[in-house]
Amino acid sequence: MAFSYRRDPRLDLTSALFQPVWWRRLVVFAVLISAAVSALTFGVPTGEAPSLLVSDATGFDDALGTAEQDRDETATDATQIQTAFAQEHIDILTPQMHAAPATITLAPRETISDALMRSGLSAAETFAAMAPLKKVYNVRRAKPGLEISAVTTGGEAPELKALTLRADFDTLVHVKRVGRRAFEAEAVQLETQRHTHIAQADIDNSLYLTAEEAEMPAATIVALIKALSYRVDFQREIRSGDGFRTLYHTSEAADGATRPGDIIYAELDLGDRVERLYQFKHPKTGRTDYFDEKGESMRRLLMRTPIDGARLTSSFGKRRHPVLGYVKSHPGVDFGARTGTPIYAAGDGVIERANRYGSYGNYIRIRHVRGFKTAYAHLSRFAKGMKAGRKVRQGQVIGYVGATGRVTGPHLHYEVIRSGKRVNPMRLDLPTGEVLSGDALAAFKVHMETVNAALLDPTPRVQMAQNGPNDQSR
Ligand SMILES: [Zn+2]
Repeated sequence: MAFSYRRDPRLDLTSALFQPVWWRRLVVFAVLISAAVSALTFGVPTGEAPSLLVSDATGFDDALGTAEQDRDETATDATQIQTAFAQEHIDILTPQMHAAPATITLAPRETISDALMRSGLSAAETFAAMAPLKKVYNVRRAKPGLEISAVTTGGEAPELKALTLRADFDTLVHVKRVGRRAFEAEAVQLETQRHTHIAQADIDNSLYLTAEEAEMPAATIVALIKALSYRVDFQREIRSGDGFRTLYHTSEAADGATRPGDIIYAELDLGDRVERLYQFKHPKTGRTDYFDEKGESMRRLLMRTPIDGARLTSSFGKRRHPVLGYVKSHPGVDFGARTGTPIYAAGDGVIERANRYGSYGNYIRIRHVRGFKTAYAHLSRFAKGMKAGRKVRQGQVIGYVGATGRVTGPHLHYEVIRSGKRVNPMRLDLPTGEVLSGDALAAFKVHMETVNAALLDPTPRVQMAQNGPNDQSR
């Protein structure tokens, strides 16, 4: 039997040449061809946003623990640049795709892979994109709130075209598709500039609110209060009309993102006295600290309150025991705080024990110089690596508030032990942390004069001789 095949007569352009029926068939053919071409070109769902979660939650928590308000600004700027980058990639890589870049915000306890898959990308697609990303970015540093700007094809099985995230204040990471299941990643260093500011105001109610009105970044205000807290009782000593002045840095990245820098100088006029602090890097130890005009460290050997924002709930001395009912001496002070609130080492020292300790629950004791020890009880958990023999620095997080041991609720029980005897940390006349002498004092005096001259400069744009530990713009 001879082979034959039947043509679709509607598309047969070889017969009835140039007759009316032929012209009709030609038009049908042209329409089908153009439909096929447009299906190839715009075949992916057009105008449909990729099925990625769009969120306006903000924040890339940088190493400084940037305060909320600054984070907001940073986030906006970064989103803009990420969007601009993503837009560029739409044009370069996928002229036929018209999907808008979507922002995926990393949720708590979520990895970048989790977030990409949550946004609709397949495991294979995610895995392929993560491989080069991991080479330029330590993905374990990604924190909740990190924003990932992603461009995908959209549709039911979206393909990733490009993504951008802010690895650091001054670093953007871009990932782009270079082939089927093949991606390339690069880290782009943004230029940064350091700005010097002088904030000055009369205190109206609280130092915090006044400094905020003077446009100091929240993280800088917190650092200022912390630095002064060894000398000033912020609950009782600050009155309306007291004045303050601060010389501080901020850094600005090329995309406009800002982040707080160091406090170079601060003064607080309390009416009866003026507290001054200068940031200074010790020429021998290399440690940066705040010193007063005499070269004495603002810090004390120990912190009275080794926790932020807590209220004193039980003071030192005799009291009725909240659990056992009878009157008994309370050999420490209690600070009420929520479970999980960080607890700081009150001073430099070595951990003597960090374990379960009877009714104290989870307990840490630190041995300091000059016969001092401090103890911290009822912790929910210890900070990583805390164990006997470990050296800690003043202000370092050693554990978290909890309610372990014999307690009625979460709080920190804090004890200061001097020469084996438990003493009241609130009454203690604590020795100064450090007093500069010799060459260090001479270098400090030179530095102090530079700062004092900078304070007289009406244009607050001075490059200081010294750089602090937090400044990123060196
Ligand atoms: Zn207690």
